[in-house]
Amino acid sequence: MKEHIENKNITNIVILGSTGSIGKQALEVADKHPERFRVIAIAARDEVSLLQEQVQKYNPLAVAVFDPDAYLQLREKTGDQCRVLAGIDGICELTSFPEVDTVLVAVSGAIGIKPTLAAIRAHKRIALANKETLVAAGDIVMRSAREENVDIIPVDSEHSAVFQCLQGETSYLKKIWLTASGGPFRDFTSDELARVTVDMALQHPNWSMGPKITIDSASLMNKGLEVIEAHHLFNVDYDRIKVLIQRESIIHSMVELVDGSFLAHMGVADMRIPIQYALTWPGRLESPARSLDFTSLTAIHFEQVDDSRFPGLSLAYEAGRAGGTMPTVLNAANEIAVKSFLNGKIKFTDIPGLVEKTMSKHSLILNPNLETIFEADNWAREICQAMVKGGKV
Ligand code: NDP
Ligand code: MG
Repeated sequence: MKEHIENKNITNIVILGSTGSIGKQALEVADKHPERFRVIAIAARDEVSLLQEQVQKYNPLAVAVFDPDAYLQLREKTGDQCRVLAGIDGICELTSFPEVDTVLVAVSGAIGIKPTLAAIRAHKRIALANKETLVAAGDIVMRSAREENVDIIPVDSEHSAVFQCLQGETSYLKKIWLTASGGPFRDFTSDELARVTVDMALQHPNWSMGPKITIDSASLMNKGLEVIEAHHLFNVDYDRIKVLIQRESIIHSMVELVDGSFLAHMGVADMRIPIQYALTWPGRLESPARSLDFTSLTAIHFEQVDDSRFPGLSLAYEAGRAGGTMPTVLNAANEIAVKSFLNGKIKFTDIPGLVEKTMSKHSLILNPNLETIFEADNWAREICQAMVKGGKV
């Protein structure tokens, strides 16, 4: 065992998705507080050179790589400096090392389900950025966390905001108000939306994020996924989860309490704040983020989402209310649709249509077990992919 990990004041963290937007910002948080955090394992899909740099810098116990070729390359490059594990099993194995305190799940997509469940089984605290895991398998993941008495601390900024507002207030909660920036196309007409290019969609006005969530933010499907995420994290009915556009991204979300009080979480749009909070909860530390400058703020606007231009949100409410395998199908179809848009195969406005068509072909299964979830996920990916290939978008 490397000696640094025995210090009890230090939180030993595993970062799944260390080469991504959230993963890199988590490493910045760890850099700012070397006396509090040690990065003892990292994982990614195939970014070999960045993983190798991270291995050099953080000297972790182990690194896991999903892609088989990338695994071989990294093993050759790192020699015997640290253990290199392969595939989804290797990623799951990292989460259960005895030295680990907290697992930050920051991979993109439903691939996060197995490592999250592995971390729960190993009784590690989970800092969860990966919303697709809760959308696709929220009932199973939350039930398992309750049974194993494991804390799942949200990293997603809206859910971190709600979580912070709810400290000591959970029993007084009336409604959750999730805020949305509205994305880069919030003022576009339907015709303009149909002409959106990949480059345009990858420019977000307020946040800098990985490609998948950036497209989801532009289509507002991200907010739909977040409604389902909030339902699971806070155990609240869909009727009590509302969405508002707050275009300046100053208010990160709000809770409405039974006595008519609203508590809002405010701050700059900087993911290092919620990432750090998920690692320090219930305490706090100084953040590398800048402070909010109220003198440069002229107004905070609130608007309703226009469902006709942005159908992703209402599709997510529909899938969430249907329950069972339907949110799994919504998520899987959306993952394929977003990938197809990024690869130039479909138009931006085809994304919600593909999700809707895949959902409409699905025979709902209520109370699915994990195997059924994975079957529904695979089924939806195949159906959606076939529609893209066949030009039936
Ligand atoms: P990125 O695309 O920037 O990064 C994704 C990370 O996941 C990369 O490290 C990637 O590795 C890794 N990864 C992808 N697939 C696999 C796989 N099969 N096995 C192992 N690792 C994999 O995404 P983000 O950081 O933007 O988002 C991560 C998650 O956090 C998403 O679920 C997103 O919805 C959520 N989130 C992100 C926010 C943000 O500001 N970015 C805000 C709120 C939530 P590689 O680089 O090798 O491909
Ligand atoms: Mg969010």
